Amino acid sequence: MGTVVKGRRPTRAVRVGSLTVGGGAPVSVQSMTNTPTADAGATMEQVRALAAAGCEVVRISIPDEEALQAFAALRREIRLPLVADIHFDHRLAVGSLDAGADAVRINPGNIGAPWKVREIVNAAAHHGASIRVGVNAGSLERDILRTHGHPTPRALVDSALRNLDLVEGMAFFALKASVKTSDPMDTVTAYRMLSAECDYPLHLGVTEAGTPLTGSVRTAAALALLLAEGIGDTLRVSLSGDPVPEVHAGFELLRALGLRTGVRVVACPTCARAEMDVAAWAAEVEDRVRTIEMPLRVAVMGCPVNGPGEAREADAGLAGGKGHAILFVKGKVKKKVSHDEALGALMEEVEKLVREAGGN
Ligand code: SF4
Repeated sequence: MGTVVKGRRPTRAVRVGSLTVGGGAPVSVQSMTNTPTADAGATMEQVRALAAAGCEVVRISIPDEEALQAFAALRREIRLPLVADIHFDHRLAVGSLDAGADAVRINPGNIGAPWKVREIVNAAAHHGASIRVGVNAGSLERDILRTHGHPTPRALVDSALRNLDLVEGMAFFALKASVKTSDPMDTVTAYRMLSAECDYPLHLGVTEAGTPLTGSVRTAAALALLLAEGIGDTLRVSLSGDPVPEVHAGFELLRALGLRTGVRVVACPTCARAEMDVAAWAAEVEDRVRTIEMPLRVAVMGCPVNGPGEAREADAGLAGGKGHAILFVKGKVKKKVSHDEALGALMEEVEKLVREAGGN
């Protein structure tokens, strides 16, 4: 699989629990729960679903004391790196760190006085946790907003740098930063500036990106430009609704750029010649291969016209025929299978390829 990424920009390495972010570590994929955190059962279920989808860091909002208690219970059960998302109340950040958060994300524009930030920093240092300075266009400090008039990219970066400086002044350096806006091109401009002006690992994202289709496209447009320039160490694709598709979209983006490996499912768009329900079959194959990290190409093609050609280029593939499909493996026809047995036969071949390569 090719890549146009020129090389990653050097950043410091920061730990988030067992995961390294920055310092050349693979770009990681994160997501965030959207259940009421105080509902520990529902939140636990969502964290487990995210973990099963391959999510590498889960962020959880801690809006109040009840949520903090639920977070503490969750932490005891979950080994995946967890980040506590804190607005306004520094005591909740300290409480989350005491409860075992691997990192906290604070929005400096709304934490308040520097002594409050210092308490968070002291707790993070004590527990070996990291801090993300997460600047958001919607909640910039008032003075910065006054200076710039709007939440411009420069305003976002000024806020991030000011707060990174503040924390550095407290001799704490396990920092990441983000400067998110809902405008994809402003996001690109802001991260380019920030990347040129600091060497902390950057958490990429377009905030309030939208529903799964629009949100994925907007995020991919912005993040692909940045990642191709080597900017970005971890990312979240923010989508309205169930967070699991955020993880799928994140990995798909990184794989498309050649930054992570995995199975690329090639599926034809179908036309009048299609002899099978390619969309349903391809969706099913995508679901089943999502967490495989081995770089494989799997084709699902609707008919024998272009199908065999593409399927032959793939490591494994199906090309539809009338009432049957042709199963190809490594460029060779393996066998003719009925529609009913086609998916099972394809998956068997994929699993065999993974086993033979000693992969996951
Ligand atoms: S592979 Fe066949 S069904 Fe699919 S788009 Fe091409 S011609 Fe149409």
